[in-house]
Amino acid sequence: MGKIRVLPEVVASQVAAGEVVERPASVIKELMENSLDAGARSLEVEVRGAGIGLLRVTDDGSGMDREDALMALERHATSKIASAADLSSVLTMGFRGEALPSIASVSEFTMRTRRADAAVGTEAVVKGGRLVAVRDAGCAVGTTIEVKSLFYNVPARRKFLRSEATETAHLDRAVETVALAFPAVALHYLRDGRTIYRAASSSSLAGRVREIFGGEEADVLLEMPDTETGGIRVSGLVSRPGGTRGDRTRQFFFLNGRAVENVFLSTAVREAYRQMLEPGRHPAIVAHISMDPRAVDCNVHPAKREVRFRQGAAVRDALRGPIDSALREARAAWLRPVQAHVTSRLGSQPEIAPPAVVRGAHQPELPRPVLPEPVTSPVVTSAPTAEAGPAQPATTRIPPEEFRLVGALTRRYLLLEGAEGLVLLDQRAAHQRILFERLQRGVAGGAVASQRLLAPEVFELPARTHEVVADNLEVLASAGFGVEVFGGRSLKVEALPDFLAGRDPRRVLEDFAAACAETGARVHGAAADDAVRRAVTRLAVEADGARDEREQRALVAQLLACELPYCDPEGRPVMLQFSWRELDRKFGRA
Ligand code: ADP
Ligand code: MG
Repeated sequence: MGKIRVLPEVVASQVAAGEVVERPASVIKELMENSLDAGARSLEVEVRGAGIGLLRVTDDGSGMDREDALMALERHATSKIASAADLSSVLTMGFRGEALPSIASVSEFTMRTRRADAAVGTEAVVKGGRLVAVRDAGCAVGTTIEVKSLFYNVPARRKFLRSEATETAHLDRAVETVALAFPAVALHYLRDGRTIYRAASSSSLAGRVREIFGGEEADVLLEMPDTETGGIRVSGLVSRPGGTRGDRTRQFFFLNGRAVENVFLSTAVREAYRQMLEPGRHPAIVAHISMDPRAVDCNVHPAKREVRFRQGAAVRDALRGPIDSALREARAAWLRPVQAHVTSRLGSQPEIAPPAVVRGAHQPELPRPVLPEPVTSPVVTSAPTAEAGPAQPATTRIPPEEFRLVGALTRRYLLLEGAEGLVLLDQRAAHQRILFERLQRGVAGGAVASQRLLAPEVFELPARTHEVVADNLEVLASAGFGVEVFGGRSLKVEALPDFLAGRDPRRVLEDFAAACAETGARVHGAAADDAVRRAVTRLAVEADGARDEREQRALVAQLLACELPYCDPEGRPVMLQFSWRELDRKFGRA
C-alpha cells in the first residue's frame, strides 16, 4: 500500500503555520499587513500576555462579505494575485493566501468584518483550524481579527517561545515597523490594557518618529534629502554623527513599503558611518526605498524579510548617496559659524589648509628648534609665517564674538565660545582625527613625511608581531614607515613617520601590532586599511595638550579642516556643544 497521501487540510495549515507563524509578533505582522492591503486608514492593535493571551487588530479597511470572509480562511485563497506572473510585480504585502488559515489553525480565532455597502457584518469563529460558527454580526465597517490562546494545540511551538520580555520586544518591533512604514495611517497601540502610543495620521516620517519614540530620539535624527538614482528613490532619516545607539533596534529599511533586510543595505549604512562609530555603536536609520518591484525578489521565505536585489550594488550606492549628503549637510551647518570665525581669527592665513609639517630634523630652517626628546605630539603648527597673537579681523561678516577660544581646561580640553553655545574640544581626540586624516591623504598622494633613523635598525620580533607588520607593509609605507621584511622573523627599519620620530622602532612596531588587535585590523583585505591607520594613530596618543594659544588655534584650525571633525577615528566625540538654551534650562532660566 502506498504511503504517500495528501495531508488533511488542518494538518497542512499547521505545517504552513510553522513557517508563517513563528511567534506572536509574526501574527501581528500578518494581521496588520492584511489591514493595510485592505486600504485601512486607521488601525488599533492590542496585545495581552506577550501575545499568547490576546492579539487583536481592528481596521477601517474594505471589510469582506460573508463569502469572501469564508474564502479568506481557506488555504491559498487570496484576492491579491491571480497567476504566477503577478508574483514578479506584487506590491501588496501579502499574496500567498496562507496567513489567516495558518493562524486560525493554531489558535482560537475570531473574525468580524463588514463592507461599507452591507447593512450587517459577519462573524466567523475558528478553533484549531475548524470552523465552529458563522453568523451575522453588528460591527463597524472594516475588520477585527482576534487571536487567543496562540499555539494552544502546538505545545512544541509554545515551548520554543522565549521569555515574555523577548516576545513583547518582538511585538513592539512589529508594530513600530508598520508605524514607520505608513506614517499616514493612524495607529493606536495598546499592551496589557495600557496605551503605548497613539499615533495620529501624520504626513511626515519625522513626525511619526517623534510620536512613537519620543522627542529625544527624534532630535538626533537628520532628514535625508529625497533622491533618485537610476530609478531607485530614497528618503528617510538617519542619526547625527553623535546620535548612535548601542543596538540595532532603530534600523528600518522599507522597500516599496515593505520592511526588508539585505546585506547591501546594511553595508551602505556601515560604510557611510565608517570611522564615526565606536565599536558596538550603531546609527539609527529609517529608509524608504522605492524601485521597480521586478528588480527585487521578495519571495525568498514566507516570513523572513530577506530580499534579493537584481543589482545590489546599485541599491547600496543609491542609499549611500543621501546618507552621505545628510551627514555632510549636518557637518556644514554645525561648522559654518565656527569655521568663518576661526578663519577670521587666524587672519594672516589665507585659508585653512592641511598645514605643513614643521617639526623634525629634515626641516632645519623652520623657526621652532628641533626638539631633542621624542616627538610625541601630532600637533603641527600652522604655516611658518603665521604670527602668534591676535590677528587682524579678516574679511568675514561674522563678528569676532561669534566664536572665541576661551582657553584650556586642564591639559585635556579646550573651551570655545560660539554663537549658539559652548564647545568643549578634546585635544587628544582632535590630534587623533587630524593625524588619521593625514594618513589617509598620504595614500591619496601627498606622502606623510617620514624621518630617517641615523642608522637602519635590524631586529627580530615575535612571530605574531612580525606577521602583522609583514601583512601591512603597504599601509605602513604610506604612513611614513620605512620597513623591510627579512626572512624568518627579522625586520629592517630605516625610517619612522615624523610624528613618531625619536621613538624606539621596536617598541613602535610592537605597539602597532597590539593596537591592530584592538582596532580589529585584520590582516589582508582592503577594508582593513583604515583599521590599520587607526592603529597607527594610536601610537601617537601620548600627545600633550597644545602648549600655547598659537598651538591651540592651530589645532582648532586643522581640526575644522578635517573631513569628519566631530569624532576621532574610533568614533568618540571630539567636540561637544552645550547650547545656551540647554545651559539656561539647567540653571532654571528657560
Ligand atoms: P494574503 O494576504 O496572502 O492574500 P491572507 O491569508 O493573509 O492571505 O488573507 C487572505 C485574504 O483575506 C486576503 O487576500 C484578503 O482578501 C482577505 N483579508 C484578510 N484580512 C483582511 C482585512 N483585514 N480586511 C479585508 N480583507 C482581508
Ligand atoms: Mg496576508
